[in-house]
Amino acid sequence: MFLTISTTGSPERPATDLGFLLHKHPGKTQAFSTSHGNAHVFYPEATAERCTAALLLEVDPVALVRRGQGKGRGGAPDAALAQYVNDRPYAASSLLAVALSGVFRSALKGQCAARPELPEERRALRVEIPVLPARGGAALVHRLFDPLGWDLVDVEPVPLDERFPEWGDSRYVRLVLEGELRLADALRQLYVLLPVLDDAKHYWIAPDEVDKLLRAGDGWLAAHPENGLISSRYLARHKRLTQDALERLELVRLAEADGSEVEEIDNAVDEARDTEERPVPLAVQRREAILAALRAAGAARVLDLGCGQGQLVQALLKEVAFTEIVGMDVSVRALNLAAKRLRLERLGERQSSRVRLLQGSLAYTDKRLAGYDAAVLSEVIEHLDEERLPALEYAVFGAARPRTVLVTTPNVEYNVRWETLPAGHVRHGDHRFEWTREEFRAWAGGVADRHGYGVEFVPVGDDDPEVGPPTQMAVFTKNDTDTATDTTETPKEGEAA
Ligand code: SAH
Repeated sequence: MFLTISTTGSPERPATDLGFLLHKHPGKTQAFSTSHGNAHVFYPEATAERCTAALLLEVDPVALVRRGQGKGRGGAPDAALAQYVNDRPYAASSLLAVALSGVFRSALKGQCAARPELPEERRALRVEIPVLPARGGAALVHRLFDPLGWDLVDVEPVPLDERFPEWGDSRYVRLVLEGELRLADALRQLYVLLPVLDDAKHYWIAPDEVDKLLRAGDGWLAAHPENGLISSRYLARHKRLTQDALERLELVRLAEADGSEVEEIDNAVDEARDTEERPVPLAVQRREAILAALRAAGAARVLDLGCGQGQLVQALLKEVAFTEIVGMDVSVRALNLAAKRLRLERLGERQSSRVRLLQGSLAYTDKRLAGYDAAVLSEVIEHLDEERLPALEYAVFGAARPRTVLVTTPNVEYNVRWETLPAGHVRHGDHRFEWTREEFRAWAGGVADRHGYGVEFVPVGDDDPEVGPPTQMAVFTKNDTDTATDTTETPKEGEAA
């Protein structure tokens, strides 16, 4: 596996600065042992005018097999021989990306202690990878690299066998990139896109893989039109991780964008999601289920409690039947993002009179929440400590008392169905608890009894015969005989009942 990086220069700005940038002396040949074999860095040419650094990785296929990495995707072992006879040693691939990050770690981060100004400078760069596995062919290579600011993206299919042109092309290409870029940006693109093109990620996908992707994607991935495909392939098509990555990239874009772009971004994210033919994301199914329940209840004035970044508020705004929509959240940051998403300051008068965002906590009784038709708590209760739930219960069912209350929460039984969730783990770092169907029913039933509501349960997402659906929703409806006075004792603000 072989990759070269070249730059040109002048006596004032010598090309050999590349040695500083890569932290590798142009006069030396250096070897590094990596987990997959030995990596060598050397400079075929090093003058003030032109300097080329080469990274050569000698993969040890036997070591790969011993490490359990000669396996195909999904963990199924390849046929016995294919474990030893495969393209790993010859083709630039995800292993080269791993070596790249190991050998050029500081360069990737854009650090250069000796010459701190250098990494910030753009330079005329030329990257060449003579044999690059590219599932998706030259067309995909262009879709991936063209948007990244290179002047030249040259992709040439490598014939299967030069002696027999009629056999056609192999799945390899020769790639040449030329342009004025910062070296760190170029390296980080390669670090992500080589394994994406290889599409046979050899190592175990851990949840922190999303962090790695976002770090390496800093500055280019959030705005990349193919970020859906890139994330999905980089994360070996693990749906949950891909969804996480896309949601976080969307946040990055929201934070970077001014309001006018937010809608475009949402559309781009939806499209990117579609390109990998993944099923409808659970978050979307949840939103649809909530909207359907609100329509069925005939609600017009709706509270979205714990509204987060305002996706549901946005969906509610699109339906005229919802005449007044209030999003409330404890997080100011979430509310700021919601305001951006909704383009609040640009909405016309009629639209903006329908929507309001409030900062507040569900752990406290709040007069502003009284008098609505419906309240939604979508994936919120599990973010509060269990001891705070009685306070939330009182604030919503005791004080605000809308006719309809929808509560969704993860069904912990379903967690065994998520491929990447280690046993016994909750789905989100901030979840204080996750309940079985039985536990949710017990809680919801108690709430309904204590406050004069009836309750029904609706599965959201694939309703597995054994473990149930990924999301469980309770639909509470206030009893008609309701006297509007509550049977429970009124706790002091913020106190558990
Ligand atoms: N409803 C959104 C967001 C769920 S994430 C959705 O379905 O996508 C949970 C949200 O609850 C976060 O935005 C968090 O800030 C908010 N939250 C957590 N504790 C809260 C509290 N005590 N009061 C109000 N909001 C709270």
